[in-house]
Amino acid sequence: MDFSFQLDIVNELKTEGLFRSLRRVDPERPGRVTIGGRSVILLASNDYLGLADHPRIKEAAIAAVRRYGLGSGASRLISGNAAPLEALEERIARFKRTEASLVFSTGYMANLGVLSCLVPPNGLLMADRLCHASLIDGCRSNGCRFRVFEHGNLDPLERVLTRRPAHRPTVIVTDGVFSMDGDIAPLPRLVELARRHDATVFVDDAHATGVLGAGGRGTLEHFGEHFGLPPDSVIQMGTLGKALGCFGAYVAGSRVLIDYLINKAKTFIYTTALPPAVAAAASAAFDLMEEEPELRERLWRNRNHYADGLKTVGFNILNSETPIIPILIGDSQTAVAFSERLLEAGVFAPAIRPPTVPKGTSRIRTTVTAAHTRDDLDYALETLGKIGRSMGLI
Ligand SMILES: *Cc1c(COP(=O)(O)O)cnc(C)c1O
Repeated sequence: MDFSFQLDIVNELKTEGLFRSLRRVDPERPGRVTIGGRSVILLASNDYLGLADHPRIKEAAIAAVRRYGLGSGASRLISGNAAPLEALEERIARFKRTEASLVFSTGYMANLGVLSCLVPPNGLLMADRLCHASLIDGCRSNGCRFRVFEHGNLDPLERVLTRRPAHRPTVIVTDGVFSMDGDIAPLPRLVELARRHDATVFVDDAHATGVLGAGGRGTLEHFGEHFGLPPDSVIQMGTLGKALGCFGAYVAGSRVLIDYLINKAKTFIYTTALPPAVAAAASAAFDLMEEEPELRERLWRNRNHYADGLKTVGFNILNSETPIIPILIGDSQTAVAFSERLLEAGVFAPAIRPPTVPKGTSRIRTTVTAAHTRDDLDYALETLGKIGRSMGLI
């Protein structure tokens, strides 16, 4: 292979301002990182509650490493099923108020594995256009009929539901919090539609667990729990690598669903189990989330202060309702230039470009966490405003 195909693609990406490369980012102190030897404010972490560096979580991981070593040595169904994994699954089911849960190595693998086997070949999967790439890939990999509906526009979705052949197993797939826009899925309407048309809702709570709801239990709790439905009628998925500050992911639902996934989800079966220490740390993170609601209160105070500031400065933050706050730019090159000037001024907030977001909607995606100080947020607001004005963006 002479790699000329790959070279052409790389060059094309560079010409279009869509080339991506890795950047070294080292943790410094809460809400800040060092990049190129300089301390900068971090507006790009999903560690919403600052748990990744919490002493209790680190201690839980270290204690489990001492007891279990690091790697799990095999897949769950072979010999990789140590006590901390089962304890974590019980902990998650209790937290999500479902019958059972199943841990996967990552959110990407959970979505791919679950959706690829959730409905039979005569089934129907429907997903919001702005769903995370792993959900879209999961739906595609099923091989059944798959339809994408416009973000939040449920009329065409209902038409498809109405016209479909009777008894076609159907799942409506959505992010709970959309990862690039920061808005919240209209879950009550989706669940109502699903109920009327004998379908099921699958909600990806990657950015909602630990963030939404008084107890941090996610999108369902945000809207008042189960809308009078049996708790397991909505399939919930979430990650352990965002607000939980750990790594991995889970699916929560009925016992039957979990038994089915253990037998049929290939990304669960054919992969090495999560290290026991990661599972032990995640259990500690669920405990902390329940015991320290002030972490979530601080997150939301920071979020509201910063989002109000951005609006006052004059930025378009789309319909953000959560700690994910996009700053819409439009053109890819301008978004990259803006992001680079921010970094020079000590604020790290990367540009997000197609294909992660639709063409013409390149943006600076910022996230606020409980770890930010008010001073850092105010400095970020001032800097964003100054550079935005100098570039004619506001
Ligand atoms: C981050 C994310 C995932 C993937 O989770 P990982 O554990 O990081 O693989 C899935 N869905 C959504 C909506 C996400 O934001």
